[in-house]
Amino acid sequence: MKIETREKLYEGKAKIVYETDRPGVIVQYFKDDATAFNALKKGTIVGKGVVNNRMSAALFERLGRAGIPTHYLETLSDREMLCHRLDIIKIETIVRNIVAGSLAKRTGLEEGTSITQPIVELYYKSDPLGDPMLNEDHVRMLKLASPTEVAWVKRTALKINAILKPYLLKRRLLLVDFKLEFGRRGKKLYLGDEISPDTCRLWDSASKEKLDKDRFRRDLGGVEEAYQEVYRRLVTADV
Ligand code: UDP
Repeated sequence: MKIETREKLYEGKAKIVYETDRPGVIVQYFKDDATAFNALKKGTIVGKGVVNNRMSAALFERLGRAGIPTHYLETLSDREMLCHRLDIIKIETIVRNIVAGSLAKRTGLEEGTSITQPIVELYYKSDPLGDPMLNEDHVRMLKLASPTEVAWVKRTALKINAILKPYLLKRRLLLVDFKLEFGRRGKKLYLGDEISPDTCRLWDSASKEKLDKDRFRRDLGGVEEAYQEVYRRLVTADV
C-alpha cells in the first residue's frame, strides 16, 4: 500500500518526522546535517542520512528478531523509514562498554579503558539545559517516567547492548557507547529514534580507529569515509 506523507511533525538536527495517512504511523527522513556540542558546531556529512537510515533499519530488525519492541516498521527509501508514532520519554539513555567522551572527563579515566560491567546513564533530553545527567530520583521528581518504566528502560538498554555488541564485533566494530531513546505507544514502551554512527561510538576492533561522529566533533578528518566504512561492514555478508 502506498504511503502518503502529510504534515511535518518535527524537524530536528539530523531528522525530519512526517505524519502519514496511516494513523499512528510516521516517516523518519534522515538528513546529512550534523551538529555537535549542543548545536554550537554545524556541518554536513555527505551520505550520512543514507548510512544512518540503513544502519538503523538493520539494527532495529536484528533487535526486533531478538524480542526487543522497536518503532521500526519498514524501509521506504535510502533516507526514509516508516515507524510507529511514539510519545517520546524525555530521557536519553546511554550504555557504555569502554570509557570515552564525557565519562573520561567526569572520572579522569583514560579514553579506551574497558568497563567490566556495562554502565547505564540517564540524561534529561533538554536542549536549553544542555542534556544534564539525571538519577532516578530526579526522573521521579520531574515526572519524566515512572519507576517501573525506568527499570524497564535500564533492563532493555542492557539487553540491547548484549545483542548489538557481538553483532557489531563480528563486523570488526567495537561498540564503545551509545544513546537510546524510548517512547510510549498505548500501554507499551518501544525503542525509538535511531542507532547510527551519530548516536554510537564505534571503533575498529583491531586498530581502535574512530569510525563515528567523533571524527566530526573532534575535526579528525575522514568523516564521510568513516560513515561509509561502517555501512560497508554492516551490509557486507562475508564477515
Ligand atoms: N550521544 C548522543 N546524543 C547526545 C549525547 C550523546 O547520541 O546528545 C551519544 C554519543 O554519540 C556517544 C554516547 O552517546 O556514543 C555517549 O556520549 P557522551 O556522554 O560521552 O557525550 P559526548 O562526549 O558526546 O559529549
